[in-house]
Amino acid sequence: MPEPTQVLPEVLSQIHALPVSSRPLIICDVDEVILHLIAHLEDYLHARELAFLKYEYRLTGNIGRQDGQQPLSSDDVRRLLLEFFDEVSHSQDMVPGAGDALNALAADWDVILLTNLPGGHNKPAREKLLAGLGIAFPLLTNSGPKGGAVAALSRGRPEPVVFIDDSPTNHESVHATLPSAVQIQFIADARFLNATEKADHIDLLSGDWQETAAFIGAILQGSSRNHQNG
Ligand SMILES: [Mg+2]
Repeated sequence: MPEPTQVLPEVLSQIHALPVSSRPLIICDVDEVILHLIAHLEDYLHARELAFLKYEYRLTGNIGRQDGQQPLSSDDVRRLLLEFFDEVSHSQDMVPGAGDALNALAADWDVILLTNLPGGHNKPAREKLLAGLGIAFPLLTNSGPKGGAVAALSRGRPEPVVFIDDSPTNHESVHATLPSAVQIQFIADARFLNATEKADHIDLLSGDWQETAAFIGAILQGSSRNHQNG
């Protein structure tokens, strides 16, 4: 069971710079949720005669030479990912329906994007890419498990806060830190999605933005109904 995590000071200062709001909140990851990542990473690996060894949610130990099963060292994976992010951050493709779904939900919800960017220096490229796709929500950069950042973002907001992310590590961290959150594990890549088992703390496991938007839409309908009845 993971421990609750604390928000990092550099993330807290980004949170304090946001406009004050008491609207319901969706906290949404970027990679593999709004922008494709795995498909781009796979192309990048194949061009270097590398490949995922399994469709399994970890990178260290899971990237190796196409002609063998020997994984790259964690240092090599880290270096490869930094190069990959530098090359791809300005040109990732949008996951179908992400922009339409988030913009429609924004009628009732505030949307804040929370992304883990190695180095953080690709943030301007990423903001420009997202804005060009019509996704113009505040973008916060974090590093490490996201529970602390999500709990800090949820202060002053009505429950439940909705958290959307592909990473099981981030979901475990949010469950340990803010158990009231509605947790949506969104994985755009069908192979990684199908290889993922839904954990008990996950409310919806999906790779489809229409399904995800309908699920989130029903949350407010449910709470207003409870309100009328209660
Ligand atoms: Mg992600």
